[in-house]
Amino acid sequence: MRLTAVRLGLGSAVALLVAAALGHALHATVTGIAIASMLALVAVLTHRHLQESRMPATALSPSATADAARHALRTRRLAGQLRALRNAAAALPDALVLLDREGRVRWFNEAAVRLLGLRRPQDRRAVLRDRLAGSTIADWLDHDDGGPLDDVPAPADATLHLTLSLLPIGRDQRLLIARDISNLNRLEQIRRDFVANVSHELRTPLTVIHGYLELLDPVDTPELEPIIGEMRLQSRRMAQIVEDLLTLSRLETQPRLVEEHVAMRALLATLRKEAEALSRGRHTIEVEVDDELDLLGSLKELHSAFSNLVSNAVRYTPTGGRIGIRWRRTPEGLEFAVSDTGYGIPASHQARLTERFYRVSSSRSRETGGTGLGLSIVKHVLNLHQGRLTVASEPGRGSTFSAVFGSERALAPGTEEA
Ligand code: ADP
Repeated sequence: MRLTAVRLGLGSAVALLVAAALGHALHATVTGIAIASMLALVAVLTHRHLQESRMPATALSPSATADAARHALRTRRLAGQLRALRNAAAALPDALVLLDREGRVRWFNEAAVRLLGLRRPQDRRAVLRDRLAGSTIADWLDHDDGGPLDDVPAPADATLHLTLSLLPIGRDQRLLIARDISNLNRLEQIRRDFVANVSHELRTPLTVIHGYLELLDPVDTPELEPIIGEMRLQSRRMAQIVEDLLTLSRLETQPRLVEEHVAMRALLATLRKEAEALSRGRHTIEVEVDDELDLLGSLKELHSAFSNLVSNAVRYTPTGGRIGIRWRRTPEGLEFAVSDTGYGIPASHQARLTERFYRVSSSRSRETGGTGLGLSIVKHVLNLHQGRLTVASEPGRGSTFSAVFGSERALAPGTEEA
């Protein structure tokens, strides 16, 4: 029995298999700590067992002979399991690359050849980021911050797309997992096309229905007045849902926006007017704006996102409440925030607010003319500006929605860039 092979094999193969299998089921980043602990345990047990296996048999008593036989049997069984694990790891569809402390390749499976272009045996011991120099993956390995790398072309075949994550294994090893997401991307594209086509097809019939409903005059048939009123309301809602779905499809398929100098003082003045029109005097509206700070971005899309936040604040705040619209620089970056003293949102709902059609209270959303798509649009617009949405809310006290942008988007009013 070749003990070195067993040690290396079990340390690597079990590590790879367990990590990959769990990574598949639960997404690698979440399970990183659990996987690392399991692998450390496997390594310790394996090491202990192998130490014992190598101990010279000093006594030849019958019990010592029996012990030695048992040991030999255990070692053979271990080697068999090890071979099975190695074969399974090698056959996994995800690319797996085990890296040492210096980022050198210790082991890789067949998928790493197909997806990352690693060659056997030349690339064993190669520094992976040097091997992939010039690619997004090499930059990501250089600036590893523990986060995954989403949707990048595969170095071995640019028509394939990968998602990568890096897991710490033990004290000084890391496991790179690269998953081919090309099929998922294709399915996602089919879904996007389908939603866009359906929305587009619905647009014309809805416009026709809406047009005829507007022509109907309830004065001729007073008993139909409430019915016609309801039909008009619902057809307007449907038209708004279709428009919002089309906006989302457009934002999803747009890789980047045409950016310009967005004069924030003027934009906030427009938002105030919109809020006042929607509130019709039911709320106090306050605006606070840093006059020295403008934003680099798409005026049209930012206006739509900020309007959504302002309209939500008005719609979800009872009469007599206060609404604040603020634009300023903070330690985190540039912040557009809308706060209200409205109904608030229970913590259990907050993480899901940007999902399509997710509503905390469907009846309240419908009563106020909501489509359930507003915050999805906000999220997409912010993504296209490399920004993010944060929510702080307490039921019964109110909410603050903040759009946070990187400081590199700051512009001084009247100039090109700050
Ligand atoms: P909707 O069109 O239903 O308002 P959104 O996507 O804009 O859809 O918002 C999703 C849900 O988040 C809303 O239905 C509402 O329950 C909740 N919400 C959004 N903004 C606020 C707010 N300012 N205060 C309380 N709840 C809010």
